[in-house]
Amino acid sequence: MREVDEADVVVVGGGPTGLVLATLLGRCGCRTLLVERDERPYPVPRATHVDAETRLLSERKCRRMGAK
Ligand SMILES: Cc1cc2nc3c(=O)[nH]c(=O)nc-3n(C[C@H](O)[C@H](O)[C@H](O)COP(=O)(O)OP(=O)(O)OC[C@H]3O[C@@H](n4cnc5c(N)ncnc54)[C@H](O)[C@@H]3O)c2cc1C
Repeated sequence: MREVDEADVVVVGGGPTGLVLATLLGRCGCRTLLVERDERPYPVPRATHVDAETRLLSERKCRRMGAK
């Protein structure tokens, strides 16, 4: 989807939060437009360390979303 007029929801920001939110909304059938101001991904890693609890929550969420 490319046009704001066609979207039910506009998610601003393509970081982890925006990407997951847009994915979940899309899976719920919402016509979702995600806009990101940066043309390219952040140039250095921003998740060199993920603590155990965050990893557990992420894995659980990914499984629910059908990812392996
Ligand atoms: C150098 C660095 C290293 C890090 N290392 C780790 C780590 O090892 N482990 C860890 O757990 N966390 C780490 N973090 C923190 C982690 O990156 C953040 O917690 C996470 O990215 C937050 O996700 P977010 O989606 O909420 O925000 P962000 O990742 O900041 O995403 C927000 C997005 O919104 C976009 N945006 C903002 N305003 C607008 C606008 N007006 N219009 C369009 N787009 C807009 C931005 O360009 C950005 O892409 C690190 C952060 C940095 C900077």
